[in-house]
Amino acid sequence: MFILKGIEQLEKAIAKAKKVRPRVEFDRFGRYRVSGSKCYYTVICRKDERGYKTVTCTCRGAEKGLACYHAAAALSLHIGLARQQQAA
Ligand SMILES: [Zn+2]
Repeated sequence: MFILKGIEQLEKAIAKAKKVRPRVEFDRFGRYRVSGSKCYYTVICRKDERGYKTVTCTCRGAEKGLACYHAAAALSLHIGLARQQQAA
């Protein structure tokens, strides 16, 4: 799990996601399934009780607190959906 402070923190992960182009499946708002090299990972984007945006991915990198490309791929969808919700 890591706390999302800004998009610049995801630059490398976004670059990798663009290269790898993982499949992102919508589960429900804030919860996505992203294809990895061998299996699917679950990415959960939420605001914690202090208002921090937290991103959890079930892969090993994210367990160590790294911003992985699964999270970057899921976040690009999540941010778009969040904007739509605010606009609605
Ligand atoms: Zn991951």
